[in-house]
Amino acid sequence: MSDHLLRVEAIQSFYGDAQALFDVRLEVASGEFVTLLGRNGMGKTTTVRSILGIMTPRHGRVMFKGQDITGWPSFKVARLGIGLVPEQRQVFPNLSVRENLIATASNRLGHAAPWTLERVYGLFPRLKERAKNLGANLSGGEQQMLAIGRALMTNPQLLILDEATEGLAPLVRAEIWDCLQTLKASGLSILIIDKNLVPLMRLADRHFLLEKGRTLWQGSSEDLLASRHDLRESLGV
Ligand code: ATP
Repeated sequence: MSDHLLRVEAIQSFYGDAQALFDVRLEVASGEFVTLLGRNGMGKTTTVRSILGIMTPRHGRVMFKGQDITGWPSFKVARLGIGLVPEQRQVFPNLSVRENLIATASNRLGHAAPWTLERVYGLFPRLKERAKNLGANLSGGEQQMLAIGRALMTNPQLLILDEATEGLAPLVRAEIWDCLQTLKASGLSILIIDKNLVPLMRLADRHFLLEKGRTLWQGSSEDLLASRHDLRESLGV
């Protein structure tokens, strides 16, 4: 079995006849904090969809915990231990914060200290204050906290966040970065898409850069700082 928790092996994915991924490779080791970087339209979300079984790659493989999960339905991928914080957050608008959190709760992998309502409220005290409010009545920041909380309530081994802080106010962003730091320290494996490189350079163990549906580069934050000008240009830094 490979040392990697997640290993994406040269996947190719299509929207109808249009090829979006040509050769995407990435790995996340247990306890690692990994970013998926790249400008708009380079294939980050498509990669996440291909990992989660929302799309099935036509070539290549997605391996998780040594199992080939390529094309598995999303619910089975989730059960195996991948939690998603989706780009659109997708909280249930007609359920309260508490109900949203309970709706996804499970501990299928039998974690000794699973995520519970109280633990999520400890991470995001704001959610406790808003426990009875409907999902529809939350601010963008609160919705994102709820989306993270919901994913944690599934007790995943790997948490994937697509656009973790997009559209959020700076103070809320800072709160999300603090939370991710805490989650990393707890040993959770994280794969994240976000455009804010400054906090990512601090938090991430490794970065993967996508360009036009291909993994163009991978390396540490130090490697990225020392990298070629054109590489940094393709990230807009
Ligand atoms: P962004 O940051 O803008 O979300 P991204 O890196 O996540 O960008 P993707 O959304 O994965 O990029 O898009 C990769 C390619 O696939 C783009 O060329 C995009 O136009 C195309 N694409 C994305 N979604 C669809 C879709 N539903 N139907 C057809 N083509 C799509």
